[in-house]
This record gives sequence, C-alpha cells and structure tokens, in this order.
Amino acid sequence: MKNLFKSLFLIIIFYSTIIPFVNGQELSSAVQKELGVEEGQYFADRDSAYLDPYYGLKKLIYGNRRFAEDKSIRPRQTDADLKSNEAGQSPFAVIIGCADSRVPNEIIFDQGVGDLFITRTAGQVMAEASYGTIEYAVEVLKTKLIVVLGHESCGAVDAAMKLPANPPGHVVTLINAIKPASLRAKAENLPAKEALNYAVKENVIEQVNLLRSLEPVLSRKSDGGEVLIVGAVYNLQSGYVHFIEETITSLPKFN
Ligand SMILES: [Zn+2]
Repeated sequence: MKNLFKSLFLIIIFYSTIIPFVNGQELSSAVQKELGVEEGQYFADRDSAYLDPYYGLKKLIYGNRRFAEDKSIRPRQTDADLKSNEAGQSPFAVIIGCADSRVPNEIIFDQGVGDLFITRTAGQVMAEASYGTIEYAVEVLKTKLIVVLGHESCGAVDAAMKLPANPPGHVVTLINAIKPASLRAKAENLPAKEALNYAVKENVIEQVNLLRSLEPVLSRKSDGGEVLIVGAVYNLQSGYVHFIEETITSLPKFN
C-alpha cells in the first residue's frame, strides 16, 4: 500500500511537471490578462495586428491555438487573396525561425499569404544579411512585432551541445553562435533532453537580447516600444508555441 501511494505521488509530480510543457501555451494568467488573451478565443483581427504589436502577439497565440487544437482555418490563401497581394505587403510579424522542416511558420501559427515576414536558418542563428532583412521589415514594411522562434529537439542546438571536433564546412559558424547558450545549459548538469531544451530556450533569450540591442535601428525602436521583440519555443509534439514569459514581461507595457 505504501508503495502504491508512493507511485501515485510520483505520477502526480511527473504529470504536473510535464503536462504544462506538452499541453499549453503556458503564459501566466496575469500576462494573458494584460495582453487581452482570452480562454476559448481563437480569432484576432488582421488589421489591428498590423497596427498594434501587442495585438499581433495575441493574433499569433490564437492562430497557434487553432493549429495545436486541430482547428486551423488556413486564412488568406484563396485566389482573391493572392490577387489582392499584388499591390504590396504589410506583414504583421517578423519571425526569426529555425530552418527545421518540422517548424513551418505559417502552418503552426495558422496564418496566410502576406502575414509573416520570415528568415530561417539552423538554430535561427543570425548574421548581417538577417539583420538587414529584419530592419527592412521594420523600416520599410512598418512591421512592429518580431518573434525569435526556437523549437525543442533542435539539431543545431544539439550540435552545439556536443561540440564536435571537426564540424563540416560552415556548420562551425552555427555552433560558435549557439555555444554560449549550450555552455550555460551544460553548467546546469541536467539529463540530456532537459539540457538540450534548456539550451534551446537560452539560445532564444540570447537572440532576443541581441536584437533588442542591435544598433542602429532595432535598439532605438525596441527601447521606445515602437517595435516589440519577443522569444518563443515550439513544441514538436503538442504543436503549441510557448512564448517565453520573461521576454514578454520585459516589454515596455509591463514596466
Ligand atoms: Zn532547429
């Protein structure tokens, strides 16, 4: 009997630790309230998302909720939508994502043509061309929301954790960029899978901070609250994107 109670206790501890990771978007209720994110809500207006980046964040959360709960509507992909795009584009969010084929950005956020301005490289490592791409979106297209999107079980971050002696070709560039996050994860002495996911999150936070301080465009706009830069991690199994709360509570609206 004592063992039975012990097993039940361990099962409860296990699921209370694991389930939030697998089953939800995980933002605290206080942050959801401040952002206006409502339970059971799935839709947010497109034009408002373009004008207000906090609303854009809400739109991504709702779109991802549709995807993860098998309620995708695949918006703005009809012939009429394509024709209307000829006049120009006004994406409401920039996504800095990993090249991983399991993280197709428009699909996991259930957005359409003309909604997301995306750069994708392994481990979402950025270089000069990425910065120019993001600055173009901000300065010319007037996009006000930037999301750095990592994902669990990222191969690039895994490579940085293993620090291979002779990585092929230019792969060393990726590994060097992710190395600070991987070293911090190693220092935590976690089991392998947890260590990898810790490094994934650390890498995203580091990239968010890098963009927030990037001269001459993003630092100014980010400090002034004109552009929001946040981080998120996609869960391959559940389909949910978990927005990293500390990258949201550090936005001007929360201070
Ligand atoms: Zn990846």
